[in-house]
Amino acid sequence: MFNFSAGPAALPLPVLERARAELTDWNGSGLSVMEVSHRGKAFTALAEAAEARLRALLSIPSHYRVLFMQGGATAQFAAVPLNLTAPGAKTEYLNTGVWSAKAIEEAGRLGVAVRLAADEAASRYTRVPDRQSLRFDADAAYVHYTPNETIGGVEFPYVPDTGSVPLVADMSSTILSRPIEVGRFGLIYAGAQKNIGPAGLCLVIVHEALLGGARADVPSVLDYTRLAAHGSMLNTPPTFAWYVAGLVFEWIEAEGGLAVMAARNRAKADLLYGAIDASGLYRNPVERTCRSWMNVPFMLAPAELEATFLREAAAEGLTHLEGHRSVGGLRASLYNAVPLEAVEALVGFMREFERRHG
Ligand SMILES: *Cc1c(COP(=O)(O)O)cnc(C)c1O
Repeated sequence: MFNFSAGPAALPLPVLERARAELTDWNGSGLSVMEVSHRGKAFTALAEAAEARLRALLSIPSHYRVLFMQGGATAQFAAVPLNLTAPGAKTEYLNTGVWSAKAIEEAGRLGVAVRLAADEAASRYTRVPDRQSLRFDADAAYVHYTPNETIGGVEFPYVPDTGSVPLVADMSSTILSRPIEVGRFGLIYAGAQKNIGPAGLCLVIVHEALLGGARADVPSVLDYTRLAAHGSMLNTPPTFAWYVAGLVFEWIEAEGGLAVMAARNRAKADLLYGAIDASGLYRNPVERTCRSWMNVPFMLAPAELEATFLREAAAEGLTHLEGHRSVGGLRASLYNAVPLEAVEALVGFMREFERRHG
């Protein structure tokens, strides 16, 4: 099967095979990794090794803390304002799609003052703001944006320059797809189920200077400062997800690291967009300069053909190609674990489908 799911998404086959092989006897213990104490020596070593691998892959500077949290990226929509605002603080958000809109809504629910530094709703989320058009209030507590909008398939081709204001990025669907410069960000968060591992885990990479200023009413499990002080083990972490994430980091390392991932991801995206642009049946609505490498939405004209497309694709082993329920259409997600041969198979099927139905 070739799995184009947007999330929970495909995992590398060698990772699944290793997890299967170790399922009932992890580390020579005669037990599953799911059955041992998170505070025991063996699991603590696993947790530290996973963090060390992630730090090496992303070249995370030592003055950043890495947290392994729960509640998905959605919990971070609340955790960010709860941790980074003092009473009366102002925040700035870039609205570029469904996920940034949800982050904005959650900040509003918590009574935080939000200014939209950009709003692409009028473009129907088919582009990102021009780099030069962005102006930020130097007094803002932070600027929040979504580098890759998973549903709209829109991606920033640049990192916004916010001066001295900390930049917060929801990288759920783009982290580990290529090298990034962590030092440009105050805080990065990413739900695991796209490019990291199983659902249930959310990574947070936070500059030390942003710790210690949380609102008094922040729940303990969302308090970055307390989590950092307790090695992300204030309570029981999702141990199996942490273990699989560690295996994924090891796999990326063995494949050659993030530069190799970037080259592969670029090639996969180029192949699929090229096929869409060359066809008279398929269409991608996103402005070319901000098309996502990870999530490629496309429509068929006439739209009635989409159900037939999905049915026939599934029969060929090409699955999870339906668009998000909020926007419809089709979507192929091309995360690290999706091999080039999957995209070749998809493009071959699309040409064949067009020949028969176009
Ligand atoms: C998937 C996704 C989310 C939501 O993640 P949950 O883990 O379901 O909370 C948020 N932001 C982006 C960019 C996503 O891709």
